[in-house]
Amino acid sequence: MAFKIGTAQAKPGRIAYGTFDLVTFSTGGVDRIPVVIAQGKRPGPCFWFTAGMHGPEHSGLQVLHDLVTPALVRELRGTVVAIPALSPAGLRTNQRVPYYAPGDPNRLFPDGKPKPKPDPDKDPTGDVELGFARLFKEIERTADALIDLHNAWTGSLSFVYRDRVLYRSDKNAKAHKAAAQALDRRLDGLCEAYGHSVVLEYPVGKYLDEKLHRSTSGAALNLARIPAFTAELGCGHMPDPAIRKACVAGQRNALRWAKLLGGVFEPIRGIKVVNPGYRCRQRRCPRVPAPCIVKHLLEPGATVKKGQPVLEMRDIWGRALAQSPLRSEYDGWIVGRQHGIVFNSGQPAYVMAIKDDLPTVEPYPKSYFKPKKK
Ligand SMILES: [Zn+2]
Repeated sequence: MAFKIGTAQAKPGRIAYGTFDLVTFSTGGVDRIPVVIAQGKRPGPCFWFTAGMHGPEHSGLQVLHDLVTPALVRELRGTVVAIPALSPAGLRTNQRVPYYAPGDPNRLFPDGKPKPKPDPDKDPTGDVELGFARLFKEIERTADALIDLHNAWTGSLSFVYRDRVLYRSDKNAKAHKAAAQALDRRLDGLCEAYGHSVVLEYPVGKYLDEKLHRSTSGAALNLARIPAFTAELGCGHMPDPAIRKACVAGQRNALRWAKLLGGVFEPIRGIKVVNPGYRCRQRRCPRVPAPCIVKHLLEPGATVKKGQPVLEMRDIWGRALAQSPLRSEYDGWIVGRQHGIVFNSGQPAYVMAIKDDLPTVEPYPKSYFKPKKK
């Protein structure tokens, strides 16, 4: 129970505040991640909630301010670690990418691969990546579950990105698979407890290509092997109060599922929750076949049948295109519209959650853990 994250020292019955050094600057300053540790008087598991990885996504940190209160501590068995700003530079400047590290910061957590020999002609790992590697060690050391809070885009539904569970098949494949299946079931339990709509992440190949296994929740799930997901909370620059409240209720239900809180599960109110009765993964579709002005026929949260008209397409003069209306190629539901109505050939008009029949437990590619040959 007695542990420290950065300068925040957990104390039973208290909320502890502190910081974790992320990067030290050549100019002498340090960028610090704020850390809040709320610990109940009674022992129990440790649940991490993280937010603020992408600068323009503001709902998550507000949700954490609402969640972590003295009243929560009085009810708590165990410990809640809340990190409101994983990317302080991003939040300060309202930018997705921190000014001192190129690329998406949510792809910098460790990947579990054997370390390659240093290449004298290549820049070594950057300081932010090293900082997240140190933070990840703290997650591995202390966390039993994790939810990372993000925002998607304006008009999108609140939903969970649920990663597939990967396992090593190069040795002890049977045992690794069985453990992965158990983790997969626990992740289902956590998603169900949270109670918002669920969208599966990509199948293994694209998941690794997109470096999603190096996101906060991807690394927590597939490397630290704890139930973890990313919660997307609608629009980021204007946090939606209904989604914020539904997220706090979902988090408290997640804490009940993990046995940190007692009492009955709270209803998720004020937001649309879609459960079509089958699993779905994300796809940006349908794509318009020609330049056009689009009229969306469906709202976020609507369920869709394959073959159903989902949008009308006109030219700029208002005449219907020969291909209009465009029909859905998939069963599924609408996560949100793409922004705007003026589209070029091949642009997607919606983000959909489409029916997914692929396994949620998959092996890493055989070559994944092999050291890279020069
Ligand atoms: Zn994000």
